[in-house]
Amino acid sequence: MSENATRPSTLTQEFLEGLVQRVPGSSGNTWKLTEVYTGDLLVELPQSSEDDIKQAFTDARAAQRIWGSWPLRKRLKVLKKFHALVLENQYLITDLIQAESGKNRRMAFEETCDVPMGTSHYIKRAPSLLKDRKHAGPVPFLSHSTEVRRPKGVVAIIAPWNFPFATGISDTIPALIAGNGVVVKPDNKTALSPLFGVGLLEVAGIPPGLVQVVCGEGPDVGEPMLSQADYVMFTGSTATGRIIGELAGKNLIGACLELGGKNPMLVLEDANVDEAVHAALFGGFGNSGQICMHIERLYIHDSIYDEFRDKFVAATEDLKIGAAYDFSADLGSLVSVDHRDRVASHVDDARDKGATVLTGGHPRPDLGPAFYEPTILEGVTPEMLAGSTETFGPVVGLYRFSTDDEAVALANDTDYGLNASVWSTDKDRALSVARRIDSGNVNINDILATAYASKGTPSGGLKQSGVGARHGDQGLLKYTDGQSIAVLKKQVMEPQKDQTYEAYAKQTQLSLKLMRKTRFR
Ligand code: NAD
Repeated sequence: MSENATRPSTLTQEFLEGLVQRVPGSSGNTWKLTEVYTGDLLVELPQSSEDDIKQAFTDARAAQRIWGSWPLRKRLKVLKKFHALVLENQYLITDLIQAESGKNRRMAFEETCDVPMGTSHYIKRAPSLLKDRKHAGPVPFLSHSTEVRRPKGVVAIIAPWNFPFATGISDTIPALIAGNGVVVKPDNKTALSPLFGVGLLEVAGIPPGLVQVVCGEGPDVGEPMLSQADYVMFTGSTATGRIIGELAGKNLIGACLELGGKNPMLVLEDANVDEAVHAALFGGFGNSGQICMHIERLYIHDSIYDEFRDKFVAATEDLKIGAAYDFSADLGSLVSVDHRDRVASHVDDARDKGATVLTGGHPRPDLGPAFYEPTILEGVTPEMLAGSTETFGPVVGLYRFSTDDEAVALANDTDYGLNASVWSTDKDRALSVARRIDSGNVNINDILATAYASKGTPSGGLKQSGVGARHGDQGLLKYTDGQSIAVLKKQVMEPQKDQTYEAYAKQTQLSLKLMRKTRFR
């Protein structure tokens, strides 16, 4: 093993065992959480029983009563401290994310930035979003109503392995700011960085027990979690999202579902080819293709297709792939051997059905158990797995188009609608194409970061890519219920003494007309 792949000295056995102590594990079962680069055991992760999960919700509910009664100012003070603590511990968190997920250091570092960015945004925005709002009542001058924002109670957050710290903790922050308790369920493979994040929240000053972490296989923990929760924030595959949606419906709780994608990149004829090629390297192969918003379909205008393809293949072959706890590798590992096999099956299926592999197309066991080469395919058709379903690995297909209309139609020819990337030197043209793409996020002359890091704008999926959104005002308000408290100063909404209902009805009709005419209501 090369020196830069040596496990960081920060990740001592004592430290890792301390982290997992937070997980209730009365089932007695454990999950072997391994270092992805080597397959070596990092720590035995306790698995939570149904009773553990019930207890976690009970404890979070008790702590929420305290937290929810604090003035917002006091809650935000804790979040400000947490923001500083994340930055103080940023490289340690980066180490944890790399060890548990196998991603390269750049992606692990950038993942850590998401949490302070989102926290900072909502610290600033929450006072205005959560304050009471006075509205006019039905009778001018004599009535008014107040919209009060109440926390949901205890929110279940179910997170995937591809951005464990960002999805586990970033989604927790607005739920907390809104006054909720939280029970987080990370993926077993990547529970360490969220556990560390919860520890930092406690150091920052949340009431003990307010944020709980439970661990287990998804199907074992889903039902008990959703029968206790007041809201669920789920990030993961479309298939699991459907199950979570059903459970949420059964329990009549709200759900935000952030799901998969099959994201297109459109390179219009007037695009800067070198910039688009450079971006496509990150778009296709960033986080080894395990970003929900990453690119799997590249549509290139006919007139620049050959130039783009040749430059893209050459640049891909120059990428450095390997295990490294420093910034030297462009690509890290896939998350597991199972996932590597799934990615390989998409490439093998495409090859078998007639696609051409322009570069890549092989596992790299010489680098570590779950490495796979960045792979570019040509001639992918909808009948192939890689043509229609999410591969979620470093595999892209190249396609030609000749008009903007055709490019839009091809981009929209999918069940998904999470992210798209449009490249052109003509901003207005790119904007008009962007508005026609059925996707929750569209980036112009960027792949994904501009939309995702715009924390003031909602980010979610259309079609089978999700329900609801994170970020933006709704990213905080979804964790609240609106309560209407209405005041009537004098009872005038019924016939007055000695007035017939007929006379009252006429008067009501007249006042409705008048209010419209004067635009009073
Ligand atoms: P997954 O759906 O298999 O698992 C996600 C989480 O759900 C894990 O914690 C898992 O243990 C849990 N889970 C699985 N079955 C469950 C059940 N029946 N009840 C309750 N929980 C259950 O997804 P994954 O493979 O971990 O993650 C990759 C997927 O996530 C990709 O499809 C990717 O596109 C998507 N993703 C989407 C976004 C987004 O913001 N839209 C972000 C990251 C990842």
